[in-house]
Amino acid sequence: MITGVAGFIGSHLADRFIKEGYHVIGMDNLITGNLDNIAHLFPLKAFEYYHHDVSKFVHVPGELHYILHFASPASPIDYLRMPIQTLKVGSLGTHNLLGLAKSKKARILIASTSEVYGDPLVHPQREDYWGNVNPIGPRGVYDEAKRFQEAMTMAYHNYHGLETRIVRIFNTYGPRMRVEDGRVLPAFFSQAIRGEGLTVFGDGKQTRSFCYVDDLVEGIYRLLLSNYHLPVNLGNPSEITIMDFAHEILKLVNNPKAHIIHNPLPVDDPKQRQPDISLAKKILDWEPKVSRSEGLKLTYEYFRQVVKGDGNH
Ligand code: UDP
Repeated sequence: MITGVAGFIGSHLADRFIKEGYHVIGMDNLITGNLDNIAHLFPLKAFEYYHHDVSKFVHVPGELHYILHFASPASPIDYLRMPIQTLKVGSLGTHNLLGLAKSKKARILIASTSEVYGDPLVHPQREDYWGNVNPIGPRGVYDEAKRFQEAMTMAYHNYHGLETRIVRIFNTYGPRMRVEDGRVLPAFFSQAIRGEGLTVFGDGKQTRSFCYVDDLVEGIYRLLLSNYHLPVNLGNPSEITIMDFAHEILKLVNNPKAHIIHNPLPVDDPKQRQPDISLAKKILDWEPKVSRSEGLKLTYEYFRQVVKGDGNH
């Protein structure tokens, strides 16, 4: 079962598990998901869909072997718009799914995030770093829900002996990201294609490290089937400033009308972020294979289909 199945990562996970021969039950309440992402799965016998909010009691008939909990608003503007739902899906939703996993004797993998490290004082971030989070800042609703989620998951593991896995996901990109989700890559691609200003927040010196979705899915697949229950970072260590990232997208889209503009830096925006993936390398024999230039080309193919350009390029 995959929660958040109509979302960006959830839908790619569903594809992968179906390809591996699993029967997939997908769940979503579509507050940020989109059925277009999974429309191709509906005709398949191996796929079932439930429209449900996992913050409410979750009932699934029959056997269940694996649960992957990927339901949550995940972009800063989404969780600012839906702070209570964000807190609920990370806490109450996670509790419901842990309870379901316990009753079905299923293994559960929980989607955590690099946001548990907050605006990190240690660089790059290793799993044993405890983070620097402002609990009451605008990002607190997401960061603290995810930190609670990890604590709850470990409690079910330690107290009930539940088989649990925790992945800390760093910035990920690829086809099926929502055009209007506010995150940097959909924003820059859609602005470049439309011939608008790319909205660099602040001076653009803040850094992120972007992982192509296929690499992430491979890591999650390996982690689920591993026997490691503590949190594992998955991401691409190749770090770039947001300003340089804007230039990469300008060059790729090559729309003469597109240019760079500056908007204010959001409150508590992390200044730098780069995963230390030594643990994933060691226990999963995993590292990203898709370079940013390759991944951006693949993603551009998607965005040029879904974003209407200005017709001049
Ligand atoms: N950002 C930006 N312009 C945008 C959207 C985001 O400069 O239109 C910056 C944002 O301030 C942050 C980085 O890009 O430093 C990544 O933001 P995103 O919302 O994608 O995710 P985050 O990593 O902050 O959760």
